[in-house]
Amino acid sequence: MNRVKIAVGVVALLAAVAIFWMNSGGADPIPDTPETSTHWMCHACKQVFTLTAAEAAREEARAGGPSPLYCPACSVKEAYRVAQCDTCGSYYFSSDVPGSLGRCEVCFPDKPRERPKDESPPSL
Ligand SMILES: [Zn+2]
Ligand SMILES: [Zn+2]
Repeated sequence: MNRVKIAVGVVALLAAVAIFWMNSGGADPIPDTPETSTHWMCHACKQVFTLTAAEAAREEARAGGPSPLYCPACSVKEAYRVAQCDTCGSYYFSSDVPGSLGRCEVCFPDKPRERPKDESPPSL
């Protein structure tokens, strides 16, 4: 009789420990759904790929920081998050990526020099 009580007590204790461990260990679980996915592009080979929030977190842990991440195509640590152009649909790096213009290079190609306001063609 006593032995049964102790066994029940141990099981209850183990269950409580397991629940506590699961709650503390898996504190806000990162979603692994398509809605959370973000676009990334490799600076080296221009491979575009998507990562869900959970995959991005895993890759960040592997890369030791938020960006750049390792490219799944060429394995070089040169993958940065990209934005998609509303006009042509191509992907481009944001301006915080080294060497990036922060805009679509198809619709807004790099100009040899800045023309601040005067967008009109030079008069002949
Ligand atoms: Zn690559
Ligand atoms: Zn564009």
